[in-house]
Amino acid sequence: MSMNNQHSGSATTTCSYCGVGCGIVVNKDKKGNITVEGDKNHPVNRGMLCSKGMNLHYTVNDKSDRLLYPQMRYNKNMPLQRVSWDEALDRTAAVFRTFIDKFGPDSVAFYVSGQCLTEEYYVINKLIKGFIGSNNIDTNSRLCMSSAVAGYKMALGEDSVPGCYDDIELADCFFITGANPAWCHPILWRRIEAHKAANPHVKIIVADPRKTDTCSLADVHLQLNPGTDITLNHAIGRLLIENGDVDLDFVKNHAEGYEQYKKIVFQRTLDEAAAICGIDKALIILAAQHIGNAKGFMSLWTMGLNQSAVGVNKNLSLINLNLITGHIGKPGSGPFSLTGQPNAMGGREVGGLSNMLPAHRDLANPEHRSAIEKFWGGKQLSPKPGLTATEMFDALNEGKLKAIWIICTNPLISLPNVRVAEEGLKKAKFVVVQDMSNKPETLKYADVILPAASWTEKEGTMTNSERRISYLNKIVDAPGEALPDAEIICRFAKKMGYHGFDFENASAIYDEHAQLTEGTNIDISGLNYSVLQNRRSVQWPYPKGETGQGTVRLFTDKTFYTPSTKAVIHPVPDENTSEKPDGDFPFILTTGRIRDQWHTMSKTGKVNKLKQHISQSFLEIHPDDARRLHLKDGDIAVVSSRQGEVRVKAQVSATIKPGVVFIPMHWGKILNSDLNRANNVTSAMVDPISKEPDFKFCAVQVAPYKKP
Ligand code: SF4
Repeated sequence: MSMNNQHSGSATTTCSYCGVGCGIVVNKDKKGNITVEGDKNHPVNRGMLCSKGMNLHYTVNDKSDRLLYPQMRYNKNMPLQRVSWDEALDRTAAVFRTFIDKFGPDSVAFYVSGQCLTEEYYVINKLIKGFIGSNNIDTNSRLCMSSAVAGYKMALGEDSVPGCYDDIELADCFFITGANPAWCHPILWRRIEAHKAANPHVKIIVADPRKTDTCSLADVHLQLNPGTDITLNHAIGRLLIENGDVDLDFVKNHAEGYEQYKKIVFQRTLDEAAAICGIDKALIILAAQHIGNAKGFMSLWTMGLNQSAVGVNKNLSLINLNLITGHIGKPGSGPFSLTGQPNAMGGREVGGLSNMLPAHRDLANPEHRSAIEKFWGGKQLSPKPGLTATEMFDALNEGKLKAIWIICTNPLISLPNVRVAEEGLKKAKFVVVQDMSNKPETLKYADVILPAASWTEKEGTMTNSERRISYLNKIVDAPGEALPDAEIICRFAKKMGYHGFDFENASAIYDEHAQLTEGTNIDISGLNYSVLQNRRSVQWPYPKGETGQGTVRLFTDKTFYTPSTKAVIHPVPDENTSEKPDGDFPFILTTGRIRDQWHTMSKTGKVNKLKQHISQSFLEIHPDDARRLHLKDGDIAVVSSRQGEVRVKAQVSATIKPGVVFIPMHWGKILNSDLNRANNVTSAMVDPISKEPDFKFCAVQVAPYKKP
C-alpha cells in the first residue's frame, strides 16, 4: 500500500541499511511523522530489528539536514544559488554534451551507491552505457562486494549466492571469517544465536584478528594475523583431505580442479601454516574437525576477505572448503557472502558496474552487447570497461575525466587514500552531487546540487544478501522540491534528447528491467510490482510462470553455470600482496564498522540514541604495544602511513592482536578538522581482478600526540 501525506496508516517497506534486508512496518500519524516496527510477517527478521533499523524513523522525521531545492553555480568562485529543476538540468545537460562532443563519452562518469534502488541503478546504467556511450558507472559497492562477485563467478560460473537465510536454522557448523555479524548483520546473528542456544551441538568457528562480539559464541576463535586467510583456508583444506572429509563423489563428478588444489594445500605443513597465521595449530585442527563432522556447513564472510589486495583469492580459498566437502546446493550448507549494503545485489542485477551489462551479461561478449543495444535502441555499446570507483578519482586527477555525477554516496570519507580523491574533485571541471543531505563533504566541490528523495519518500525495489527482492512503499512525501533519483535521471536523459526514458512510474522501469532478464541465469521475467506487493518478497530467479516465493536455493541439482557445468576449485596461490609493514611503518592497520553507525553517518549520525554506544572514533591497540609506545587509554594517538595521518583516541584493549591496530571507518570530521578520518591513511592498493580496495591491511606507524 502506498500512502500520501494526507493520510495516517501503516505500510510495509524494507530497512535501508545493511544487506540483511529486514522487513519494516511504518506507521504514519496525521502530521506525516512516522514510527517503525519490525515486520512479524517478514521471513528475514520475523519482527526483529537491530538498533539502527529500530531508529530509522528519526532519520525521516528530522528534515533539518535535507537538501530542499536544486542549486548551481557558473564557476568555482561563485556561491551556489537556488535554481529551478529545469535550470539545473539544462545546464548539466549542456555541460555534459560539450564534454562528450569535445573529449568523447569517457570524459563523464556516474559514481553511485549500493543504497540506490534497483530502478535507479537501471536508468543510470541505461543512460551512460546505452545512450552516452561510456561504461563509466561504478558504485560504492565496489568497495564492498566486488571480490565476492568475482569469486562466485570464477567458482560457480555466476555471481550468485547459492543458499538462503533459512539455511541458518539447518546448519550445524558455521565458519564466520572476516566478518562481525554480531555488530554488522545483527538480525542474522540473532538467528544464529537462537539456533545455537536451541542446539548446543552447533559449532561456530570465527576467524578474525580482533576478538569481536561475534567471538562471544565461538567454539573456536582463530585470531589470525591480518592477510593470512588463504594460508588458514588452505591449512583447513589440507586437514579435511587428510581426515577423509572430502566429498569424493562431488569433487569427481561436479567439480574440477581438485588435484591441483591438493598439490597447493600440501605445499605447507600445518606447523608452517600455524606460524604464518599466528595461531595455535590445535585450533586449526579443531576447526577442521568441526567442519568435517558437519552435516550442514555454512561459510559466512564479508569485508575481512573482500577488502584486500588478494580479495578474490581469499574468497576462492574459502569457497573451496564448501566445494571439497560438497556443502553447496543443499539445506543448511553453502558459501554465503554477507552483503554490506541494502541493494548491492540489485545494482548488479541491472549491470550497474563499470564491467557489467544488465542481467549479469558480459561486457566483453559481443552477443551480449548486441542484445542490449537492440533492446535499448540507443548507441553501440562500448566493449571497453569503464572506470571503477578509485579509478574515477585517479582519472579526475589526471585530467582524463572531466565531469563526475555523484549519487547517494560520500566518497570523501569512504574512499581509500581519500586525500587523492579530494584532489581529484578539486581538479574536476564539473561536479554534480545528488543527495538527500546537506552534509556530505562533496557538496563543497559541487557545481550543481540536486536534492533527492529518501527512504519511504519513493517506491522501488531492493535485493538483499539471499537474492530476496522486496518492494518498498512510498509512505511520505519528499520535503521541498526533492525528487526520486530515477525521476531526476529520466528528466536529465530527456534534456539530453535521449528516447527510452519516458517511464510513467517506477513500476514501468522495473518491468523493463525484468524483461531484460528473460532467459538469463537471473531470470525475473515473472515479476512485477503487483506480484511483489502480493508476495511481500521473493527470491530470484523468478521466471515467467513461477507462482511461489521464488528460488530458495541454487545448484540443488549440482549443475553450475560454468561452461562445463562443474564448479571450479581454484588452486589459488598462498600469498598476500598487501603493503608490507617495515621499520618505518611497523603496525598493520585494519578498518571497519561499529555496531550503531552506518557508513559515513549521514543518517545514523542524526540519531542521538545511536551515539550512546560509541560516540567518537578510536584506535584499538593491544596493551603490549601501547605500553611500548607510552600510550595510555584515552590519549590521542597519531597514526601515520605513506598516505597520510589520522589522530584518534587510543582504546587500549587485549581484544586485538599485538602489532595490529583498528580504526572505525565512519568518522570524517570534528570541528572542521578531517584528522579523524580513517581513510587519510588507508592503502591505495586494490585487488587486481575485483579492483576492491585493501581497507584491511595498511602499514602504519603509531605515536602519542605531542602538542607542537
Ligand atoms: Fe536494518 Fe540490517 Fe539492522 Fe536488519 S540487521 S534492521 S537490515 S541494519
